[in-house]
Amino acid sequence: MAFQLSAEHEAVRRAVREFGEAEIEPVAREHDETGAYPEELRRLAAEYDFVAPNIPEAYGGAGMDTLATTVVTEELWRADPGIGSAVGSAGFGTSMLIEYGEEWMKEEWLPPIAAGEAASASAISEPAHGSNVAGIETSAEREDGEWVIDGTKTWITNGTVADVAIVMAKTDPGAGHRGITAFLVPTDTPGFEAEKIDNKLGIHASDLATLYLDGVCVPEDNVVGAVDEGFYQLMDFFASGRTSVAAQAIGAAQGALDAATEYAGEREQSGQPIGEFQAIRHKLAEMATNVEAARSLAYRAAAHVEAGEDELATRFASMAKLFASERAVDVADEALQVFGGAGYVTDHPAERYYRDARITKIYEGTSEIQKNIIADGLL
Ligand SMILES: Cc1cc2nc3c(=O)[nH]c(=O)nc-3n(C[C@H](O)[C@H](O)[C@H](O)COP(=O)(O)OP(=O)(O)OC[C@H]3O[C@@H](n4cnc5c(N)ncnc54)[C@H](O)[C@@H]3O)c2cc1C
Repeated sequence: MAFQLSAEHEAVRRAVREFGEAEIEPVAREHDETGAYPEELRRLAAEYDFVAPNIPEAYGGAGMDTLATTVVTEELWRADPGIGSAVGSAGFGTSMLIEYGEEWMKEEWLPPIAAGEAASASAISEPAHGSNVAGIETSAEREDGEWVIDGTKTWITNGTVADVAIVMAKTDPGAGHRGITAFLVPTDTPGFEAEKIDNKLGIHASDLATLYLDGVCVPEDNVVGAVDEGFYQLMDFFASGRTSVAAQAIGAAQGALDAATEYAGEREQSGQPIGEFQAIRHKLAEMATNVEAARSLAYRAAAHVEAGEDELATRFASMAKLFASERAVDVADEALQVFGGAGYVTDHPAERYYRDARITKIYEGTSEIQKNIIADGLL
């Protein structure tokens, strides 16, 4: 399997890196401390096509391929995972709209999201059902030409800032994963309430909420795709979603490594830079090797996603997500160690990368779930 970054991909990387260094890094600590959602930065990033870069040009997006969107995510997270998450997740759920949405849905929602003027959310998880998506209990019942949705969703990224959400609900409660449907729900629909979750370990700038849907009525037209096909539709995006989380992890790990490398060249102990101690050099060498190995897996997964090679995409996306997230946490831990005591306080970004990287082992399927998927493909 050959995959390579083209000159165009490299240009995308340079552009996002410049944006990250100029606009994100200077305010990263402040957003981490205040937890403020960076709406202005989201709008600014959209001017450069870094918000939902996969949205087709016909709907105001950049129409980037999977490898390019992977690079964008990686670089946003390298600059700062919290802001990177806020900017990079502004189009959550749009893949489902692009692939399965009616034309009116795309025309109404994709242009403002690509322009950074609106944000979307993807509401799958519930208090009692996370890893087991098939178990969700939020219900949608047809009444007088409308769908009435009731239930609670939790851990929803962009929950309080989204203008629209793709909500997964049970339309055939007895049918497990065969009875789930995707709905387009504008968040100003009566009965839709969002309650912010503001005690996260990391990615503080990223919005998170619990959603309460109490008799939320949407027209019949708001079904995204087909009734009872929602789970299968969702499965189409697991590979691209997991590749994207691998890219997040790689970005966080690269950011931590870069910070540690710079510090190792500056900090002196016993009359020499700590970067001359073999113990520190070997740490940096192992960190760099893990980051590159994760990157290779993620780019390979992206190439399989782009080629529509479903089986390979599923396997490599899970491998990339598992490896990149586990290694990112290790790399961030070692980066903090290179800083010594200075790594334990907020003066340097090391502790932030350490807290922020941790989420990548949890969402879009935990590490344990990725291992289940990889093993299923082997046995
Ligand atoms: C910051 C953040 C953002 C998120 N954003 C979103 C979002 O935008 N939309 C959304 O829908 N969800 C989102 N989530 C939810 C996330 O996808 C879930 O937290 C995740 O899927 C795990 O589900 P859970 O928390 O219910 O854990 P559980 O499923 O209860 O798992 C608990 C533990 O049991 C293990 N486990 C569970 N089942 C198995 C199994 N079959 N085999 C082996 N081990 C198992 C898990 O690996 C884990 O270690 C987000 C979560 C966070 C923290």
